[in-house]
Amino acid sequence: MRQPGAGGLLMSAPVTALFRPRTLNDALKMRAEQPGATVMAGGTDVMVYIESGTLKPTAILDLWGCSGLRWQQSITGGQFHGAGLTCTDVLRSGQSHPLLEAAAATVGAVQIQNRATLGGNICNASPAGDTLPVWLALKAEFEVASVRGRRRIPAASFWQGYKKIDLRPDELFLGILIPPLFGHTHFRKVGTRLAQSISKVVFAGRYNPGVDACLAFGAVGPTPMRCLKAETALVAGAAVDDVVQLVREEIAPIDDIRSTAVYRRQVAGNIVRRWLTSL
Ligand SMILES: Cc1cc2nc3c(=O)[nH]c(=O)nc-3n(C[C@H](O)[C@H](O)[C@H](O)COP(=O)(O)OP(=O)(O)OC[C@H]3O[C@@H](n4cnc5c(N)ncnc54)[C@H](O)[C@@H]3O)c2cc1C
Repeated sequence: MRQPGAGGLLMSAPVTALFRPRTLNDALKMRAEQPGATVMAGGTDVMVYIESGTLKPTAILDLWGCSGLRWQQSITGGQFHGAGLTCTDVLRSGQSHPLLEAAAATVGAVQIQNRATLGGNICNASPAGDTLPVWLALKAEFEVASVRGRRRIPAASFWQGYKKIDLRPDELFLGILIPPLFGHTHFRKVGTRLAQSISKVVFAGRYNPGVDACLAFGAVGPTPMRCLKAETALVAGAAVDDVVQLVREEIAPIDDIRSTAVYRRQVAGNIVRRWLTSL
């Protein structure tokens, strides 16, 4: 434990305790003992909340130095990505799925990519988080743990509402399992400009003709979402126009500071149309 102010980092927040586990076991023990502590990985979301005053933590569990969260490996059932991997780790490893690499490359600028972790993007649960539709498209499973044991949760049921996730107060997010999958894939982020902008619409798609499809979007509803009717129609051989129409009906965008519902609906359909007609 380090007292606040020792390194200057947390001077602006009323933090009275900072916990820095080095191992996963220590992290889980600290989480069990301090369920009210704010978990921080790269801090690119948490520090913004603290600086803006929307988050006033009294204790922080800093996972940045926890080696047990920062690994990537093929295991039974697929490829495992630890929660502590950063976007830069993903881009440098060359071992990640192209959809994930494409998403990681669009998160902020290089400085943000150096700190932004996969677990942070997932647990922050912003509907505009750029990796979120990727996990849906890849049928990923999330692993979470506490001192009581581990759980696996399908990505599709992890985000339960706006910024609401299936993670209990004594649990930490451990990582992501991506099963082996086949088919065409496509990632597209639409923001105000090409680099360094938050998504107005973000899309990850996977299509294995005649077998299965996933059309997943972010920033068009309170959680990342799949267009299940459009997917079924696509696999059944429906015309692209009909698939696009279903996509526009299924998403639930709103007007906000970044865009309008009308624009998002139009763009979401355009992304799907362009991709499917390019295959
Ligand atoms: C300038 C800027 C630009 C950005 N651009 C983008 C962008 O283009 N696209 C995008 O998607 N995001 C963007 N972000 C948001 C942010 O960088 C990402 O969401 C990032 O992936 C968060 O990861 P982190 O490790 O920094 O999370 P943190 O800030 O450390 O944590 C985020 C949340 O996740 C929780 N958390 C983190 N790790 C765990 C864990 N292992 N177990 C349980 N809970 C955990 C924290 O408690 C917190 O609620 C941007 C942020 C900034 C400041």
